[in-house]
Amino acid sequence: MTPPQGTVLLEAQHVTQRFRLPNGQELEALRDVSLTVREHEVVALVGPSGCGKSTLLRMFAGLARPGEGKVLYRGQPLDGVLAASAMVFQSFALLPWLTVVENVAMGLEARGVDGVARRDAVARAINLVGLDGFEQAYPKELSGGMKQRVGFARALAVAPEILLMDEPFGALDPLTTENMRSQVIDLWRDPATGVNTLVIVTHSVEEAVFLAGRIIVFGSNPGHVREELVNTLPYPRQERSPDFNVMVERLHAILTATLLPEPVPAAPQRLLPFPRVHVSEVTGLLDHLLTLPDGKGHVFELAEDLGVDYDRMSAVVRAAEQLGWVTTPGEVVQLTGAGRDVMAMDDAERKDATRARLLKQPLFGRLVAMLKESEGVVEDEEVLADLTIYFPFIPVESLFRTVVEWGRYAELLDHDPDAGRLGLLGWEGGTTAEARAE
Ligand code: ADP
Repeated sequence: MTPPQGTVLLEAQHVTQRFRLPNGQELEALRDVSLTVREHEVVALVGPSGCGKSTLLRMFAGLARPGEGKVLYRGQPLDGVLAASAMVFQSFALLPWLTVVENVAMGLEARGVDGVARRDAVARAINLVGLDGFEQAYPKELSGGMKQRVGFARALAVAPEILLMDEPFGALDPLTTENMRSQVIDLWRDPATGVNTLVIVTHSVEEAVFLAGRIIVFGSNPGHVREELVNTLPYPRQERSPDFNVMVERLHAILTATLLPEPVPAAPQRLLPFPRVHVSEVTGLLDHLLTLPDGKGHVFELAEDLGVDYDRMSAVVRAAEQLGWVTTPGEVVQLTGAGRDVMAMDDAERKDATRARLLKQPLFGRLVAMLKESEGVVEDEEVLADLTIYFPFIPVESLFRTVVEWGRYAELLDHDPDAGRLGLLGWEGGTTAEARAE
């Protein structure tokens, strides 16, 4: 693997950054960080929360200055906001009282671009992100994915050489995220956009592997560069292809080593979190699919039919998919044979079928294994600590509540909130009721 060549655009040289906390203590957010970003690169910054990734990104944008060390653009120290860059935020950062056009025009306004030039640049950016027809809409009328498109359009309107993105898809559902990631790569490869270099902060291993040519892994306390991974997979990349998966596993192994205390215990296998949705939402979806021709519908239409927002619908669909009750070719949701069967069952049979499915789901499988090792009972605290290691970036309390709801429904788990304990149902003297029945 040859390291990337090309003109160095951004450079951090021995950057150390400290913050004074409200209690008077000093926090060292970054220590002696050096890295370069070259022309035509896509660089991803990954690592645990609080390791200074956003701080470094803001320095590249010229929004903050390093306490020690230097940040350079084309060899010159940054002086104020870097005009060659534009930033996209996770929070969208839209002003609710402005229309799409007005929100997109903000960056241009700040740069003194007006009149026809501004109108043209706004129209071009809106067209690039596929928001034609929504020019006069207000943010509250848009879905999360559309709001983020506005955020992108605002950044693209100034035709920045460098697009800096701080978890740009963090607030979006997975289907929208996949779609937007591909579009970001298209924008970067399209010479007409003017954008030739991307720097992205992300929590997602798949996202880093999908987008980046170079992945910088940060460690924390204080934030420092731990490892750099060159990713030579050709664009456009195919998620879930064998080569892609190899890269994902490599990055995951590095991150696991970063997140876990040394010495590293046996590397945990990758687990899939279960979407945080209710049982009734999944059965409601299956019920509705049964009424549709061929048992299938577009996820947008399903959201509309069932009166839920698109993001929620996608989570419900993913849960049903993990249980094998639907498949999702593209954005179409298709009921499977198992999905039809489960809906034809009476309540008790349906619980049994759900239990069998949950036992095959990796997260539930792991929990059950953990329970069996501990005589069928574990403290909530222990489960939460385990979940935190596997899913450092999602709120584990709410994941835990979902696990309990599904586990109880399927008569697999029992939870005693007063004692703070989770139990395996049917567990007696080292074996489960099901195992005894066999
Ligand atoms: P990351 O993006 O990797 O999650 P950040 O760069 O946001 O990390 O933050 C690194 C650390 O610095 C965190 O502990 C954060 O709370 C702290 N921090 C960031 N900005 C400030 C600030 N302006 N004042 C005080 N602390 C800050």
